[in-house]
Amino acid sequence: MLHKGLSGIALALLLAGCSTTQQLTSAEADQSAAIARALQSYQARSLPSFQNAAIKKITVRKGDSILALLRGAGADVGLFHAMSADDQAHFSRLHPGDQLALAIDRDGRLTLLAQKVENAEWRVAEKGPEGVTVSYQPLSDGHHQQLLTGKAGTDLARGLRQAGVPDAIAEQASQLIETQAGTARHRGGHFQVLITQPTLQDRPVGKPQLIAVQLDTPTQAYGAFRFTPAKGASGYYSHDGTPIVTPWLEYPIADFTRITSKFNPRRRHPVTGRIRPHQGIDFSASPGTPIIAPSDGVVNMASWQGSWGRLVTLAHAGDIETRYAHLSGFATNLAPGTRVAQGEVIGYVGTSGLSTGPHLHYEMHVTGRPVDPLSMNTASRMPLAASDRHAFHDQRATLIATLESGNTSSKTLVASR
Ligand SMILES: [Zn+2]
Repeated sequence: MLHKGLSGIALALLLAGCSTTQQLTSAEADQSAAIARALQSYQARSLPSFQNAAIKKITVRKGDSILALLRGAGADVGLFHAMSADDQAHFSRLHPGDQLALAIDRDGRLTLLAQKVENAEWRVAEKGPEGVTVSYQPLSDGHHQQLLTGKAGTDLARGLRQAGVPDAIAEQASQLIETQAGTARHRGGHFQVLITQPTLQDRPVGKPQLIAVQLDTPTQAYGAFRFTPAKGASGYYSHDGTPIVTPWLEYPIADFTRITSKFNPRRRHPVTGRIRPHQGIDFSASPGTPIIAPSDGVVNMASWQGSWGRLVTLAHAGDIETRYAHLSGFATNLAPGTRVAQGEVIGYVGTSGLSTGPHLHYEMHVTGRPVDPLSMNTASRMPLAASDRHAFHDQRATLIATLESGNTSSKTLVASR
């Protein structure tokens, strides 16, 4: 799961520190002002790693290496060496023009290293109480909340899309409701959806997220509320605090010819001929067939991995990891840390790596052990602990008040953090 200790504001802090050394264009000055505001709200809950830290920004030039750059900036590189080999490799893959930001404390120790990975997202390595954590975060200085309302009609997902709810969130929201209500019983209902979108200077950055959805029918009210228990990952809970377990899609692929190989712990490998367990399922399919996330998750990996070819791995709630191998390509903008919603395209069928023909190799691991994905219909989720219930009910009451303020028309609420 994503590391929660450092907010986008901390990244704003990095850039704020950077911009003082250069002449600013007016756009940069605007951004600086937004960042300064973000900074003020950040100071109250400042992380120890930033207290008295000097912030440096580096633009990578041809031939630069990460260790030489860090040493050149006067940093003790202990933080780099404390990262996993994978994380070190990510930070080492530098291209001219890449942007890095570092925080160096009074004793010359590197306490934070950030690398811009796409438009508004940074890969951040930070020294915390439990060692070095690496996470991906948008640079944001606020959020917009949007409240959308409408009629469910006969197809809730379609009604949501018609009200302006983004596709991935429409799928997710309708599934959260249908898991409780079934598909037939919500015809004619009226819905309210609350979405949050991280912003920088009032422009959207990163992906929107579903905060709450409610559906009122003449006989019943259904709801799903996002909540983060004190220990554990965020999830959606119904009105009474029951975790909503959305079904896994049976197949993570839009279309396939047949299953050519099942989960089998004792199987002869078709290419090497050796006995090697087949820890997944092979779907034979035309090259380019879309591969879809069977459940909400976060991208762990989307890169070339030897015999796997192009590989995507996703982390899901309940300590579940899924893997998708031999792809011909990745979905646009898919990178470690990207959140994907159930049903969202993550890549395309191919035959890359050690493979005999176009197919998808699909694996599922629960707490590190491979399991048969076809035996997996639901993601297990723990009920709320007694200590979380009070917080959940407070949060739910606030969300319902917000949702119901929108019963007459759609409107946009701008919330400051
Ligand atoms: Zn396979």
